[in-house]
Amino acid sequence: MAFNPLNWLLGLFSLDIAIDLGTANTLVYARGKGIVINEPSWVTIDKRLRQPLAIGLEAKEMVGRTPSSVIVVRPIRDGVISEFDVTQIMLEYFIGKVHEQSVVPLPRPRVIVGIPTGVTEVEKRAVYDAVMASGARQAFLIEEPIAAALGAGLPINEVRGSMVVDIGGGTTEVAVMSMSGVVASRSLRIAGDEMDQDIVQFMRNKYNLLIGEGVAEQTKWQIGSAYPLQPEKTMEIRGRNLVNGLPETVEVSSIEIREALSGSVQVIIDTVRDALDEIPPEIVADLMDIGICLAGGGALLQGLAERLTDELKLRVWVAEDPLTCVARGAAIVFEDFDILSRYLVGLERGSTRHHA
Ligand code: ADP
Ligand code: MG
Repeated sequence: MAFNPLNWLLGLFSLDIAIDLGTANTLVYARGKGIVINEPSWVTIDKRLRQPLAIGLEAKEMVGRTPSSVIVVRPIRDGVISEFDVTQIMLEYFIGKVHEQSVVPLPRPRVIVGIPTGVTEVEKRAVYDAVMASGARQAFLIEEPIAAALGAGLPINEVRGSMVVDIGGGTTEVAVMSMSGVVASRSLRIAGDEMDQDIVQFMRNKYNLLIGEGVAEQTKWQIGSAYPLQPEKTMEIRGRNLVNGLPETVEVSSIEIREALSGSVQVIIDTVRDALDEIPPEIVADLMDIGICLAGGGALLQGLAERLTDELKLRVWVAEDPLTCVARGAAIVFEDFDILSRYLVGLERGSTRHHA
């Protein structure tokens, strides 16, 4: 986004933040500043002290290396809060960090936070309550595909239809939007984490090599793909041989890893196709112009856009900076709050702490 002096000034004296509370990563976008927090949604807890030991990046680095007295918690599962207290601790810590980064004392923030499409009222309320409990002055909810579409610059306020496929850690969310709302959606519990597991399984089955999730994820980043690469790549993977128990290094190729990921990739393709089947032909025609936008970290899997383009006969493209799309898009609502607040989701009436 271009430098805007007014926003910069506002950023000094008020605090409007957008939060993307993902299963894999939590991002905080502060108005006038940009992305100020981008850390894994992981917390390690000392069981004996009943206290968090580390939050974010530091916690993720501990994974697979912790003593038995330490548990690793990923408080967001399938896009929704599964551990309320831990989520609150994590949010408090991240919002606190935003305050620390500031040269002037900041008031409590107004917060817009993303939620997956189709979550229950109870799940929405949990997100709202967690944000309020972690120190927000006001909290607003936005559906993640709407935020992703705003972040990707899609014309969702128009009558023309558009489509976003957001591939995160825990879930893949497919949404078709038109006239500022979601007209069809699909949610699938196969995304980045599942691909990591595919690689762990593959290494075990083919090479009797036990590898950690972190190593599997790095393998996916470096040589994972959904379409033939030119040239194909190789990589050395370290683990423990399951037969003799000794450390071992194995060289694998991108062709093998593509095969390992093929099942999960196929399920994602089938789900997108399924969503396409359901939408009216007018919107399909619109998509032939605009194409389908990929967002979320999974969009960075090499060759995924090409593969989808090939299979769906529609142009599939990756949003600019897909990992930050939801946070940036949610933050756009603050830029013209009176008009854009129509993208926000209300909580059901009759509740004691209505956000409006
Ligand atoms: P969430 O919204 O669930 O927090 P993100 O949108 O942050 O998820 O995406 C995280 C997922 O994206 C992880 O599974 C991560 O491994 C994956 N990812 C990130 N970069 C890449 C990459 N270059 N190639 C493949 N997958 C990637
Ligand atoms: Mg996400």
